[in-house]
Amino acid sequence: MLMDMSTVDPINRTLNAEFKFRCHHDISCFTKCCSRKSIILTPYDILRIKDRLGISSGDFLEKYTYTYIDEETSHPYAVLKTMDDNEEKCPFVTPAGCSIYEDRPSNCRYYPVGQGIMIVDSDKGPIKEEFYFFIKDPNCLGYQGDREWTIGSWRIEQGADLYDEMNREWKEIQLRRNTSEQSKLTPNKQAMLYLASYDIDKFRKFVFESKLLDILEIDKEEVEKIKTDETALMKFGFKYLKYILMLEETLKVRGEYKKGEHSHEAEGFGSAI
Ligand code: SF4
Ligand code: SF4
Repeated sequence: MLMDMSTVDPINRTLNAEFKFRCHHDISCFTKCCSRKSIILTPYDILRIKDRLGISSGDFLEKYTYTYIDEETSHPYAVLKTMDDNEEKCPFVTPAGCSIYEDRPSNCRYYPVGQGIMIVDSDKGPIKEEFYFFIKDPNCLGYQGDREWTIGSWRIEQGADLYDEMNREWKEIQLRRNTSEQSKLTPNKQAMLYLASYDIDKFRKFVFESKLLDILEIDKEEVEKIKTDETALMKFGFKYLKYILMLEETLKVRGEYKKGEHSHEAEGFGSAI
């Protein structure tokens, strides 16, 4: 658990929850929220930031992140490194504010709101439900402001709705802890979860330079799309992860690889890498 739970308001909220908040350049706490934070990155965060910086996903991960492994599930997460100064500042904060503002991560967009996803019972059986909560850091003076929001209107104003759409299936994968009896991943699956989630340039090589596309039944149109469209490749990665983690039958293996002379290759593919 990376979040400072002492600042979390423990009530789960919906998009209709109301709050007052105003954050602006002249506030005395300006950019104070950009220090001493462990910001878990999402796959779409990394796509946006590495494209903005004009570097590969591998270089971004190496320079700006460290890996946090969840003890319970063994899921790996990329966390934004802070700078090696007394204030442990985010590497992208400047006196004028966030230097990557238009491409800032989802967690920064939502702040002072936090969000999560859980499985709840319903008449139709277990369903996935997104929930929200307030983060009340005493150093953040924004709550003293008078601008009225709902979590829904804040989410749209900050552009977090697009990030949710992009990351939804990845977040569903993180619910695996509630659906799988085997909570820990094998080292190969753990490595593939990291690769397909975060290192899109290396994942592209894996998709196009291995036998994966021979083994799987995938539409030609989809193959063409993932060649050039990074977000489509990212979403294909989520489908692939759901398949190899046995969460959903999102993909199909071609008949000739199910049995017979090639079955060992399909098995190798099933355990990933
Ligand atoms: S009001 Fe809160 S969110 Fe805005 S700059 Fe200050 S600490 Fe950060
Ligand atoms: S990415 Fe931008 S908004 Fe987020 S912590 Fe860093 S400087 Fe602040």
